Amino acid sequence: MQDLIRKLLAELHEDPDREGLRDTPKRVEKALKFLTGGYTADIDSVLNNALFTVDYSEMVIVKDIDFYSLCEHHLLPFFGKCHIAYIPTTKVIGLSKIPRLVDVFSRRLQVQERLTNEIADTISAKIAPLGVAVVMEATHLCMSMRGVEKQNSFAVTSAMLGAFRNNARTRMEFLELIKLRSAVPGLSAREWSVATEACVAEQD
Ligand SMILES: [Zn+2]
Repeated sequence: MQDLIRKLLAELHEDPDREGLRDTPKRVEKALKFLTGGYTADIDSVLNNALFTVDYSEMVIVKDIDFYSLCEHHLLPFFGKCHIAYIPTTKVIGLSKIPRLVDVFSRRLQVQERLTNEIADTISAKIAPLGVAVVMEATHLCMSMRGVEKQNSFAVTSAMLGAFRNNARTRMEFLELIKLRSAVPGLSAREWSVATEACVAEQD
């Protein structure tokens, strides 16, 4: 990987041998391996010993989980907050494991929609809850740094499964509890999804 990064620096009209860049390939390799560490993480060992049987059927909410990911179209960061809720049937996930689960899927090359769905699907598969809701709000540097669609560089995606999909009151309770920072009056769900497609639609 370090050879490739040296070549990349040269392609960018830089001198890979100048003092400031001499150790850059080593640092970039280390950073990239960390930022894509989710590919080699094992969900079951992340959740190991943290699935508990309970007699509890109220909504569990973990909000404002920080996440950092890389957009698969430009290899540039997108980052923000993730909010998760589920309604257990017989099992809950240890609260400290939920941010770890978010990390596993964030530390890959992603699009925000797929990231959101993967987190929801995994929780659904592991504890078979009555429903799962995941909302992610993120800033995409591939849009804001390049000056593309600046006003749309902030994107919100959601995945609603089970009770959160079928029951409007449950869904509203969750949305009320997380009170989206991005909730702009008049901005419809359709416009949100258009915002997240802007990165994909960008050809260059
Ligand atoms: Zn992008």
